Amino acid sequence: MGSNPQLRILGSRVDPVDMSTATDRIAQLLAQRRFAQVVTFGSEMAMHARRDAAYRDVVNAADLVVPDTIGVVYAARLLGQPLRERVAGIELIERVCELCAREHMSIFLLGGAPGVAAIAADVLRSRHAGLEIAGCHDGYFSQAQEPAVLATIAASGARVVLVALGFPRQEMWARAHAAELGPVLCIGIGGSLDVISGRLRRAPGVLRALGLEWLYRLVTQPHRLGRQLVLPRFAALVGAQALHDRLTGDRSQG
Ligand code: UDP
Repeated sequence: MGSNPQLRILGSRVDPVDMSTATDRIAQLLAQRRFAQVVTFGSEMAMHARRDAAYRDVVNAADLVVPDTIGVVYAARLLGQPLRERVAGIELIERVCELCAREHMSIFLLGGAPGVAAIAADVLRSRHAGLEIAGCHDGYFSQAQEPAVLATIAASGARVVLVALGFPRQEMWARAHAAELGPVLCIGIGGSLDVISGRLRRAPGVLRALGLEWLYRLVTQPHRLGRQLVLPRFAALVGAQALHDRLTGDRSQG
């Protein structure tokens, strides 16, 4: 996108978008009325993609990969390709809801524990006048139930599917079922339905402004420690990539 060399972080593509250009790109994709995939990319995902080629291929083939976490923003800066801002998935969802309400396009919410998506649907409807939620389903369905879930989504007429199954599953799942899902735009949103429904709280604004949302999540959800232990390694590997790119004069390779 744009004239920038393509930004790759440890082998995964990240698009140099801000909130406004990401929203514009989503509007364009929706106008194309085809299956499309948006990845909200974070540092933990970069560490996973580094080791999992199939996952990396799905990320790199997505129609849009937005820098969801502060770690990705810092990494881009270190690699000499600074991004304008973090495009947090939780905020992108609100933009997409605004767009859908205005353009009369409906949204399907998939994922979270039973009941969470329905509460999130009520919250989103109350925030965005005229927003149509085409349907909801929790993220704890069996393989045997999967065809019925896919049929429900396809029959719902939704133009956007917010897939909240956690990574890597949400990205792999959407790509694997592109044909059954039909001409919808899928966005992987991790735990966002938990936040929208009020089940989980987002970090206070001051911590977010300081780039410390990860710390808040670690303190309030200590079970995430195992996952977050990859973050120092992420920083070290990005530093190594920056050095390698500088020595070889190559800014496009991960
Ligand atoms: N989840 C799900 N089905 C599963 C596993 C997870 O719907 O089989 C949901 C889970 O309820 C949570 C989200 O996926 O809402 C994953 O949240 P997490 O905090 O791991 O995602 P992150 O925001 O860190 O990507």
